[in-house]
Amino acid sequence: MLSVIVPSFNEEQLITQTAARLKSILLDADIHYEIIFVDDGSSDGTWDRICLASEDNEAVRGISFSRNFGKDAAIFAGLEAAKGDCCAVIDCDLQHPPEKLLEMFALWQDGFEVVNGAKSSRGKEKKSHSFAIKWFYNMMSKAVKIDMTRASDYKLLDRRVVQTLLSLPERKPFFRALAVWVGFRTAEVDFDVDERKAGSSHWSTFSLFRYALSNISSFSAAPMQIVTLLGFVMLAVLFILGIHTLVRWFSGNAVEGFTTVILLQLLIGSILMISIGIIGYYIAQIFTEIKGRPRYIVTKHCGGRDE
Ligand code: UDP
Ligand code: MG
Repeated sequence: MLSVIVPSFNEEQLITQTAARLKSILLDADIHYEIIFVDDGSSDGTWDRICLASEDNEAVRGISFSRNFGKDAAIFAGLEAAKGDCCAVIDCDLQHPPEKLLEMFALWQDGFEVVNGAKSSRGKEKKSHSFAIKWFYNMMSKAVKIDMTRASDYKLLDRRVVQTLLSLPERKPFFRALAVWVGFRTAEVDFDVDERKAGSSHWSTFSLFRYALSNISSFSAAPMQIVTLLGFVMLAVLFILGIHTLVRWFSGNAVEGFTTVILLQLLIGSILMISIGIIGYYIAQIFTEIKGRPRYIVTKHCGGRDE
């Protein structure tokens, strides 16, 4: 059986349409399936639509969070609830063309355990986003040591991979990168990002930036090594300036250096503060992980053959 996981946040206009589209495609291909909608704390009628869809089609189930926990949490909740031999994750807004599921499923049948949807074009994105996204993926690719510039959350995973992902203890998992990080036999399927069918994207440039920071720090300690590097750069500056100052002092014309002193103070001060900020960020991440709070809180279920 194939489990299709659909994270949904304020998507009331799309639930019915997405459920119908998935159903017709999978039914035509004669694939035994279930669809799991995860309502990520929506404030509109998303949950009602999910329940309606589950009454309409017994292969549809719904899970509802107590509040918005983010897309990655929703994906993990779906993986946890899924019963299939393989699980696919797809956006609710139909930007990930559902027909590609068939291609992914065929690859899985050929023995591939991770099938990644790779964006061959990014579709329409805000200009300000494009820059942030490019920067983020370059950093991420370096951290995971695998090219992630075309990565998406559109994936199909074998049961073994799903179990592996679920066994990871991280509190703030980054699905897209973790699915690459775990390894396994991997295949890629190209797709063009379609336009959003209704509603609007939930990302602002600022929220993307925060998301990027949190994910980079969960995969890479490089920013902290930059702190060390800055320390060495400052040491080199000290060395050169030190010799310069001493030579002038011994030769009897000491530097008239009030300006130099102020500039140096400011430079050292700002580097120190930025460094403490970076280290503080990592400590905050450790704090979050060590508290061990659940990734999400489920309040409601609907649908399902055994309920
Ligand atoms: N989503 C979610 N929780 C969130 C934000 C988004 O479950 O906090 C879902 C959303 O319903 C959609 C998918 O994640 O199915 C992608 O979201 P969106 O279309 O806003 O992102 P974009 O396509 O612009 O990257
Ligand atoms: Mg979208």
